[in-house]
Amino acid sequence: MTDMEVPARASISPAAIRDNVTLLRERAGGAAVMAMVKADGYGHGAAPTARAALAGGATWLGVAILPEALALRAAGFDVPILVALGTPGEPYDRGVARDIDLAAGTVRLVTEIAAAAARVGRPARVHLKTDTGMSRGGATPDDWPALVDAALAAEATGHIKVVGLFSHFACADEPGHPSIQRQLNVFAEAIELAEKSGLRPEVRHLANSAATLTIPAARFDLVRPGIAVYGHSPIPRAGTFGLRPAMTLTARVALTKRVAAGSGVSYGHTYHTPAETTLALIPAGYGDGVPRHGSNALEVLAAGRRRRIAGRVCMDQFVIDMGDDDISAGDEVILFGPGDHGEPTAQDWADAIGTISYEIVTTRIGPRVPRAYDEVVHKGSE
Ligand SMILES: *Cc1c(COP(=O)(O)O)cnc(C)c1O
Repeated sequence: MTDMEVPARASISPAAIRDNVTLLRERAGGAAVMAMVKADGYGHGAAPTARAALAGGATWLGVAILPEALALRAAGFDVPILVALGTPGEPYDRGVARDIDLAAGTVRLVTEIAAAAARVGRPARVHLKTDTGMSRGGATPDDWPALVDAALAAEATGHIKVVGLFSHFACADEPGHPSIQRQLNVFAEAIELAEKSGLRPEVRHLANSAATLTIPAARFDLVRPGIAVYGHSPIPRAGTFGLRPAMTLTARVALTKRVAAGSGVSYGHTYHTPAETTLALIPAGYGDGVPRHGSNALEVLAAGRRRRIAGRVCMDQFVIDMGDDDISAGDEVILFGPGDHGEPTAQDWADAIGTISYEIVTTRIGPRVPRAYDEVVHKGSE
């Protein structure tokens, strides 16, 4: 099967990713940009995304877990790569040996990373994580002094270098939420305590996409946008911020047929044709990332118009009701994309089924759907 013949595919525009990062860098003022490429670049492919993001002006890469960082190093990326989520018992020796930046939010993890560095024979680059109010990762204000002390002790032995202090927002996508200012204040206090104690971090960082775009006080030395890199608004009701969605999901019609009025369609007959009509079968289902609870809800662009999925989404396929409009087997339909041709966006799909664009593009588009990269990426826009 050649690439042209796959039933469904995700086309990805590295130029869109590059331009989104350039826009974010401008919005970040003087702060550097760490492009978050965890979860296989939010489903867009980690390495191609990283390449496009660096072309757009990012100078750091961020991932969630160590194997993601090791894969990027193995692919030849030599910029700083932060692993934002650390768990005891991971192969930190390999992380230190490959010069991966490691996050630590507990004394236990600082100790474990320092021990790995001692074995490897080079200092580990560590970012201390403080919990400023999200109650997820990181040391709370009560636990922060002990974490700072442990880090200072490990620096004294030469086994670690604290290169960063960071935290994460709970509600940056709700402008004006009272937790935002509280988290900013707690972060400032954590930085002050760490620096007064003698830590000299290169970078302090707090901002995700929403904060990068809307909270200037949160930019510090480095911002960590994720979803905006891929062109989706972190605050959909506030608009697109000029971002461009990088992924277009398409499929080719498998067959068409005329059926009588009142025909029950797909499993469970949850849709009946209101009149004699043409049905078109689309070879993409929940096995490819089309959410099953988008049955009778999601729209796609077919023959120039939006059509709602008729009946249940199956594992491999779904049906659309074309009325009397012309459509043939082999024609392309757009499931979602940037919206240029009137197709839904991933945001539209998210809205229709009560989730966020992140989940549509990152976790749903399955391994059966090949990613095709539109163009070669060059530095700067042309
Ligand atoms: C995923 C992640 C981000 C990016 O968040 P977005 O909302 O996608 O911008 C930033 N920082 C950390 C630590 C993350 O894990």
